Amino acid sequence: MPSARSFKGTIASRGYAEGDLFSLSAEVRTYQASGDTGTETARLRLAREAAVTEIAALIAHTEAEAAEILEFQLAMLEDEALSEPALAAIARGQGAFSAWQVALEAEITTYLASDNEYFRARAADLRDIMQRVLRALTGAAEIAPPPGTILYGDDITPSQFLTRDWVQGGAVVLRQGSAASHVAMLARARGVPMLVGVAELDGATGDPALVDAEGGMLTLSPDGATLAQFRFAATQSRLRREEAAAIAHRAAATADGTPVKVLVNVATPDDVDAIDIAICDGVGLMRTEFLYAGGLPDEETQFAAYRRVVEWARGKPVVIRTVDAGGDKPVPGFTVEEANPFLGLRGIRLALAKPEIFRVQIRALLRASFLGNVSVMLPMVSLASEYRAALDLFREESERLTAAKVRHSIPVLGIMVEVPAAAISPELLSEAAFFSIGSNDLTQYVMAAGRDNGAVAGLNDVTHPSVIALICNVVRYGEMKKIPVSLCGDAGGDPAAIPALLNAGLRSVSVVPAQLPLAKLAISSVRLEG
Ligand code: PEP
Ligand code: MG
Repeated sequence: MPSARSFKGTIASRGYAEGDLFSLSAEVRTYQASGDTGTETARLRLAREAAVTEIAALIAHTEAEAAEILEFQLAMLEDEALSEPALAAIARGQGAFSAWQVALEAEITTYLASDNEYFRARAADLRDIMQRVLRALTGAAEIAPPPGTILYGDDITPSQFLTRDWVQGGAVVLRQGSAASHVAMLARARGVPMLVGVAELDGATGDPALVDAEGGMLTLSPDGATLAQFRFAATQSRLRREEAAAIAHRAAATADGTPVKVLVNVATPDDVDAIDIAICDGVGLMRTEFLYAGGLPDEETQFAAYRRVVEWARGKPVVIRTVDAGGDKPVPGFTVEEANPFLGLRGIRLALAKPEIFRVQIRALLRASFLGNVSVMLPMVSLASEYRAALDLFREESERLTAAKVRHSIPVLGIMVEVPAAAISPELLSEAAFFSIGSNDLTQYVMAAGRDNGAVAGLNDVTHPSVIALICNVVRYGEMKKIPVSLCGDAGGDPAAIPALLNAGLRSVSVVPAQLPLAKLAISSVRLEG
């Protein structure tokens, strides 16, 4: 047996897994080109159609979040522009298989070279599309990994992830990959441990492996002592999760009895289907970027999405954030190409720069506000003038709706505190009805460490005294002026960060649904200082 080796990686989805490695690139194909341009063109078109049919069938049999990812792939595959380079190569005499493979590999390389994390993360979708069409060309079947194995390779496609039965355990370990990829999102939603950026990973199918996706470590061929230590840590983690699940229905409070509100973050309206409204205090952040994934959404589409969440909340508060496009969330037809998008036209800056697009969302929000306990918050606010300009737009659109006799109400309007200027001088933004601290962005801006850059992940620490000092500052000002303060960044659901956040004075956090039980458990063991 080979000797034990350990490799560091970036955590894309937390958890522990023990099993044998299984290579993701174990596929063998042969393709006999006909040598005739017309035949090769027809073969490629047929294979593309077969792939479209396959994806459509998968969409019909999968749950909402996975279906959205597959719909994204369907849209890419149906876009004629994607096939053009391959068809041109066939016209020059190449066979359909190599024409498609070379054209798609070139496209994947362009995506991987992008400065933008979002585009890099979509490379896996393109690879998925490439492989599906190649399989259709050769009639090859996918090789199913045995249950419980640890899938490893350079990257994994959404289809490879989705066709696997994860009920019997397993994990994903990638040399490349991204924590922002579609597969990483699916892995988090399903609780499948996943490490990315394990650059040095060697090993082969069948090697025994331990995936510690709590500590960011992969061990191959472990010795007895390492295995025993790993199993102990994995058992502790499982017990913690069981303990957390048992208290998830209780209202959260610290060990000394101080109540803490725990709300949930929703990224799409489908998220709420899996959450019992009874176990949370409402929605502290409804992101609205998903609405813009396929282009600019109309008012009715937006209204329907907001209404679904507001009705599900049954009177509990729902905080909807106006669109935060830009930064790592590009939207075709809305965002602009920038050298440094995190410091550019994103969030409220972009919305105010393109008011004709923003007004559509505002009308949908005004109508949704009539239906329940809705607040609206503005992302990336730095100046009071941005807040005022947005409020003016809400008032103007309200007048238009009144004139058109459309039922609506003006929501309570607050801001995200995620730009250091806002956190340093909250008194300059005292007109806002509430503050919601966006710790993901606040941390990256305070520490000058990109949230999507694994190389500086160590600096991206919400518990750094400088970040905590700013959170204290906002909380203190909010208490003094009776402005409610909450936190909706990922740190709110991180058991390691929760003691520092509560000791900074926060009494309300909004967390990703999967973290809610663990967040409540972590809160229950905090003894507040002084
Ligand atoms: C944040 O920045 O903490 C936040 C909640 O917003 P997002 O992660 O969507 O930028
Ligand atoms: Mg943010």
